[in-house]
Amino acid sequence: MNERIGIVWFRQDLRLHDNEALTEALKNCTSIIPVYIFDERVFRGKTRFGFPKTGKYRAKFIVESVRDLKSSLQKRGSDLVVRTGKPEEEIFKIARQCRSSWIFCNRERTREELDVQDALEHKLWSIGQEIRFSRGKMLYYTADLPFPITHTPDVFSYFRKEVERIVGIREPLPIPKEPFNEIPADLKIDNIPTIEDFGHELFESDERSVYPFVGGESEALKILKNYFYETQNPKSYRDSKNDFKLSNLSTKFSPWLAQGCLSPKVVYQELKNFEFRNGKNKSTLELFHDLMYRDFLRFMGKKHGDTIFTKGGIIQYPNANLREDWTLFHIWKDGRTGIPIIDANMRELNLTGYISSRGRQNVASFLVNDLHLSWQMGAEYFESKLIDYDPCSNWVNWNLVAGLAYNHKEDRHINVLAVAKRLDPNGAYVRKWLPELQSLPKDRIHKLEDFSSEELKNLNFKIGADYPRAMISLER
Ligand SMILES: Cc1cc2nc3c(=O)[nH]c(=O)nc-3n(C[C@H](O)[C@H](O)[C@H](O)COP(=O)(O)OP(=O)(O)OC[C@H]3O[C@@H](n4cnc5c(N)ncnc54)[C@H](O)[C@@H]3O)c2cc1C
Repeated sequence: MNERIGIVWFRQDLRLHDNEALTEALKNCTSIIPVYIFDERVFRGKTRFGFPKTGKYRAKFIVESVRDLKSSLQKRGSDLVVRTGKPEEEIFKIARQCRSSWIFCNRERTREELDVQDALEHKLWSIGQEIRFSRGKMLYYTADLPFPITHTPDVFSYFRKEVERIVGIREPLPIPKEPFNEIPADLKIDNIPTIEDFGHELFESDERSVYPFVGGESEALKILKNYFYETQNPKSYRDSKNDFKLSNLSTKFSPWLAQGCLSPKVVYQELKNFEFRNGKNKSTLELFHDLMYRDFLRFMGKKHGDTIFTKGGIIQYPNANLREDWTLFHIWKDGRTGIPIIDANMRELNLTGYISSRGRQNVASFLVNDLHLSWQMGAEYFESKLIDYDPCSNWVNWNLVAGLAYNHKEDRHINVLAVAKRLDPNGAYVRKWLPELQSLPKDRIHKLEDFSSEELKNLNFKIGADYPRAMISLER
């Protein structure tokens, strides 16, 4: 074979297993150059409402993931070329210098990621090179669906029924066995930046965090093995994902799935192995459906394009009651609403970058349906803070909470007090994140307005001083 150099541009596929772009490059090229670009707009930029685009938890997770990838490549005789800047410029420079034949990468589908890959593609044409796109984020392939993307059902239950019965999930690709080539000596490899380079201070994880999230494929494969081989948690997945005290039992796969350190097809494969060893039940089925739901949101993003980010959402019908009130927003964001369950959720998010699915629904519904604040402010704040941020999972879920997607028939207005009393009956979750409430009786911790002034005096507790007064009454 004539010399053919392939650049493998790692994006949200920071792994060697089940990596189509890498496998394709190895198959079609005589040598490969693995590259990761820290996009300065993503790591140093701000969202429209002015939040850091990538907060410190996700920045740390990505840096760790890139380090792990580099180390895996080095073990195979290669390395990871790293740059900070604009991918369309940095990769272009590398392609020109190395006279590569192609750039291999996974295709992204949302606006900012699309703009970057389009800009790179245009530049590459000027030097006779092109991008070869692969897929890597999902269980299902668009080509395998029984309908074109434009006809994807907008309601998950319809989507699931149409897909589940007839579409198989393809086998994941193995980690390539062959040794890789060395990086050309004249190509600078460069060091991986630290989070300090992106303006964040180094920090220790909060010891109350539900999981010590460390980025990288190696950690992803460890958590995967642990979940399916060392625990019986898949059997009670259904209960744990809806319960604050059990929320530490949900999979916690989301950050690794979001950065592509873990392939969803491999999760599915291990789920099937678990069912083979231990039997199927409603929980194992629900876990499969949640992974499928993640795909569904991505198909929604693909079908409805940029609308998922706009005020009117997928249905293109803005809710005129929502406002951009920064005073109220700051109270919500900082966890000072005086509603313990909301404040506990927001403080957990602020201190760890993660909250359970139930917690996300709670605070999102409270922002939109109780405070009547702009859902886009909430979505952007999540984008900044979440360790597992993924454009479609985040923005389409917010569309759903705000009633801006088609399957919004059910009442999306969550009664957060009822949820708190049902799922955190002894207030253990709330006390974990709001230590200032430790002295209050456990079974009444969710609604401080119910305490008489006499009771509060006896408890030596001052509402307004020890803990904020509830910003609104939640009686409905
Ligand atoms: C307003 C809002 C914003 C969200 N933003 C994100 C986001 O940016 N990134 C993200 O990965 N998830 C997001 N979610 C979905 C969900 O909350 C998280 O995927 C889940 O809490 C992650 O924890 P886990 O891995 O333990 O999930 P588990 O409960 O163990 O679920 C297993 C996997 O299924 C998928 N999944 C489960 N529920 C959902 C769901 N509702 N939507 C999409 N995928 C799901 C995830 O990949 C998850 O890792 C959001 C939910 C809401 C309501």
